[in-house]
Amino acid sequence: MIDPTAVPEKRGTAPANAPAPDAEPRFQLPTIADYEPLAGAETIERIAKKAGRLRDMHIANINSTYYGGGVAEILSSLTLLMNSVGIKTGWRVIQGRPDFFSITKKMHNALQGGEINLTDLKMSIYEEVVYENALRNHLDNDLVIVHDPQPLPLIRHYRKRAPWVWRCHVDLSSPHPALWSYLTAFIERYDAVVLSLPEYAQKLSVPQRFIMPAINPFSTTNKELSAAEIAERLQHFDIPTDQPLVVQVSRFDKWKDPQGVVDAFRIARKQVACRLVLLGNVATDDPEGQGVFQSICHEADDSIIVLSVQDSALVNALQRSAAVVLQKSTREGFGLTVAEAMWKGAAVVGGRVGGIKHQIEDGKNGFLVGNVAEAAERIVQLVNDRRLRKRLGKRAKETVRSRLLMTRLMEEWLDLAGSIEAHFRLRGGAPS
Ligand code: UDP
Repeated sequence: MIDPTAVPEKRGTAPANAPAPDAEPRFQLPTIADYEPLAGAETIERIAKKAGRLRDMHIANINSTYYGGGVAEILSSLTLLMNSVGIKTGWRVIQGRPDFFSITKKMHNALQGGEINLTDLKMSIYEEVVYENALRNHLDNDLVIVHDPQPLPLIRHYRKRAPWVWRCHVDLSSPHPALWSYLTAFIERYDAVVLSLPEYAQKLSVPQRFIMPAINPFSTTNKELSAAEIAERLQHFDIPTDQPLVVQVSRFDKWKDPQGVVDAFRIARKQVACRLVLLGNVATDDPEGQGVFQSICHEADDSIIVLSVQDSALVNALQRSAAVVLQKSTREGFGLTVAEAMWKGAAVVGGRVGGIKHQIEDGKNGFLVGNVAEAAERIVQLVNDRRLRKRLGKRAKETVRSRLLMTRLMEEWLDLAGSIEAHFRLRGGAPS
């Protein structure tokens, strides 16, 4: 029997409910104690107290990919941190055929304002695959958190004995009306909906909460790297450093506007010497990624490097060595890559959309841009002005330290978990 009260105190100690390693671990899992120098002792104590009150809670997270994209990135860190304070937090991933993921990607696009032809066939494949997943996932948790539209209808297939929360990560500023109305029938079965920003609020009978994502400063993507480690990663992928680097790290997705990045870079390069690196990956639940990658590959030349590889240390090395980090999205639920780059003190130029607007304060800790020409102008300005880069980067790092670290996210989830669970019990936990 695992003792959930045995909270590890320092880094390098495996979490309470992890299997015992048979040798001295080579890895280090961060605990909240590691955040003390960043978040302050008072915050850490407060979080530990809140976690203590929920100690026996058993939480399930359900999403649709283990890697590739912000949701997987957040879950991989947050679930471990929650376990480290004695809250049994699991993570399940639904499975699906390619046609299922092609439909759910269309839904994702339409939730962000794109078009969709919502046929009976699409709805029936969507609902059928989710039903198959419900049969395979036996949930006996105190709180179930379902992420994004892919597993959303799961809730229909369970006798509800605990609160269920739908956590939607996408930019909901203008969802497709017919799709939204179809999904609302599932959403309204939940006990609460969590969105990244207040401006994504919808007309729903279910309570809505707003929680911004956050980063893990100790992950491979974000931890400190030595100059030698950075150089090794860049050399490994044949990335020259003879010219200033302009970098965008993103899933290959039309909303990340890789073509706009290339266009802005080409304009900038006429005025200043620099090299573009577009690094991307393809999530398992995103069948469109390969096509976006192929189309942008045609743009590669001596000054434009396009790489499709999942390598978190390379993400880290690129964000640390770039003169300019771009995130020229045209829709962005939050944009974890922005916080990741800001944490490294990078000068970031982001699209004036969604969550990017909540991270970058234009001219203070980075720049916001509305089109290709503005992006090009900022690239030129930043490549030419090292002191400006330093000034913006310093403030950017402080923005992340004060607002966008995993401890803040964890505390918000602890607050929500505590209040929703109490509310559910008060109501008699009526199954629906
Ligand atoms: N990412 C990565 N490798 C890549 C591209 C992205 O590891 O080649 C990671 C990136 O570091 C970030 C996440 O994927 O943690 C992307 O999250 P974001 O919120 O920016 O975008 P999403 O893909 O969720 O729309």
